[in-house]
Amino acid sequence: MDLIRHWIDNKPVASEPERKGKVYDPATGEITAEVAFASVADVDLAVNSAKDAFVAWRDTSLTKRVKILFAFRELVDKHLDDLAKLLTSQHGKVINDARGEVQRGLEVIEFACGIPQLIKGDFSENVSTDVDSYSIRQPLGVVAGITPFNFPAMVPMWMYPIAIACGNTFVLKPSEKDPSTSQLAAEMLAEAGLPDGVFNVVHGDKVAVDGLLTHPDVAAISFVGSTPIARYIYETGTAHGKRVQALGGAKNHMVVLPDADMDLAADAAVSAGYGSAGERCMAISVVLAVGDAADTLLPKVQERIDDLTIAPGDTAGAEMGPLVTQAHLDRVLGYVDAGENEGATLVADGRGFSVEGYENGFFMGPTLFDNVRPDMSIYRDEIFGPVLSLVRTDSYADAVKLINDNQYGNGTAVFTNDGGAARKFQNEIQVGMVGINVPIPVPLAFYSFGGWKDSIFGSHAIYGPDGVHFYTRQKAIISRWPDPVHRGVDLGFPRYDN
Ligand code: NAD
Repeated sequence: MDLIRHWIDNKPVASEPERKGKVYDPATGEITAEVAFASVADVDLAVNSAKDAFVAWRDTSLTKRVKILFAFRELVDKHLDDLAKLLTSQHGKVINDARGEVQRGLEVIEFACGIPQLIKGDFSENVSTDVDSYSIRQPLGVVAGITPFNFPAMVPMWMYPIAIACGNTFVLKPSEKDPSTSQLAAEMLAEAGLPDGVFNVVHGDKVAVDGLLTHPDVAAISFVGSTPIARYIYETGTAHGKRVQALGGAKNHMVVLPDADMDLAADAAVSAGYGSAGERCMAISVVLAVGDAADTLLPKVQERIDDLTIAPGDTAGAEMGPLVTQAHLDRVLGYVDAGENEGATLVADGRGFSVEGYENGFFMGPTLFDNVRPDMSIYRDEIFGPVLSLVRTDSYADAVKLINDNQYGNGTAVFTNDGGAARKFQNEIQVGMVGINVPIPVPLAFYSFGGWKDSIFGSHAIYGPDGVHFYTRQKAIISRWPDPVHRGVDLGFPRYDN
C-alpha cells in the first residue's frame, strides 16, 4: 500500500514513520493509502530545513522568485486534471468541482506572481532638510499553514504562494484525510526550481500541529478549519509569540425576499446547499424565506433536488459525490435524526441512500427541512453536509436579526430585485462576505477572504492584500544622505523649523 510521506528539503522523507493514518476513497469506502503522521522530531526537521533555507531565500531577488512562481503556475495548469483526479479520489467531490477548486487556487498563484508590485513600500523625499523617510515590507521567516480536508488543493494555495513570494519559507500541515494534492504541489514547486527547504510538508494530526504551534522558530501560523480548533490555534499560537490568522467554521444564511426571482433563488439555494455535498465553509445551510416567499420557493427547490445526480465523483454527469469519511457521514445523518425529533418538517430525506455498486461508499442524499426554528440543533450547528434548512420569517428585519445574532459570520446572501433593499442589507449585515443575488460570494484572489465573529480569529483575512500584509512586516526607515549637516546635539523632538 502507498505511503504518503513528509516532504522536507525537496524530497520525501525516507524513514518509516512510527504512526500512520488511513486514506479512504469515499466513493468505495476502501482504504487506498496510508499517510505518515509526524512526530515532534519530524516537525523539528521540517522547521530547521525551512529556517536554513530562509537565509538565502529572503535575499533571492524578486525577479527570480517571480520566475519560479510563473513556472509553478504553468505546472499547476498543465497538471490541473491530475490534481483534480487526486482530489476527487480522496475527498469525493465531483470532478468538475475539483477542477474549479484547482482553478481558484491557481488564481492565487497568479496573484502572487505580481509580488514586485504588491510588496512595494512608500517613499517620502525631504521630510526634513536632506532627510528621506520610507517603508519596506520584509518577510517574517518560517511560517506554517494548517489546512482542512474540504479544499485540499485550494486552501493551501491561499497561503504558500503568497508566503513564499514574500520571501518566507513554509511548512504545510495539510489535512490527514486527503493529503496527496499537497505532495504533488511540493513536487511541482521543486520542478519549478524552488530551492530546497523553502516549501516543506509534514502530515499528521494534533502532534504535528502542536509541534508547529509551540516551535520557537515558527514566526507565523495560517490556519483554516473548524471554529473550536481555530480558537485553539489562535490562543496557543499567540501565547507562543506568533502572528496567527485562524479562519473557522460557518453557518451561512441566504435571505430570499418576496420580490426575488424565485427560479434564480431556487437554483442558488440548491447549488450552494448541496454543491460539494455541503462540505464548503461558504455553503448555504439556511434559507431565510421572508413573508410568503417560501410558498413559491419551496416547490422549486424540491423539484431541483429531485433532479440531482448523486454518484462517485469521477462519473460523467455526477453533481454530488459522497461525504469524506464514514465518521463524518454518521455525524451528518445524526443531525437529520435530530431535526426530525426536534419537530422540523422533513421535505427531502437523504438517509438510507446508496449508489448501486458503491454500497460501502459514504453517500447520502440531499436533505431538506422546512419550518426550522432557531432553537433546533440543525439551525444552530455547522452540519457540513447536504442538509438545507428553510426558516420562515415574517419580515426582512427578523431575517437580519437572525443573521446578526448568529455566532458565525462567514458568508451570507440576499436575493431580491430591489436595489435599495440589497444596499441596506450590505450595510447592516454583520458578516464578512456578502452576496447580492450570488449565493457563494468568495472574493477573487486580488481581494481578501475572511468572515467575521467566530468565523475568524486574528486581524488578517487570507490571501489578497491582507495575505501580503500577514506574511510581511513593515520597517520604517529615516535616512540622511549624502552629506549630514552637523547641527550639534539637540535633545528636543524634531520641529518644523529643521
Ligand atoms: P478541522 O478543524 O477538524 O481540521 C483542520 C486542521 O486542523 C486539520 O489539518 C487537522 O488535522 C487539524 N486538527 C484537527 N483537530 C485538531 C486538534 N485537536 N488540535 C490540533 N489540530 C487539529 O476541520 P476539517 O474538518 O478538516 O474542515 C472542515 C472545517 O473547516 C469546517 O468547520 C469548515 O467550515 C472549516 N473551513 C473554513 C474555511 C474558512 O475559510 N473559514 C474554509 C474551509 C473550511
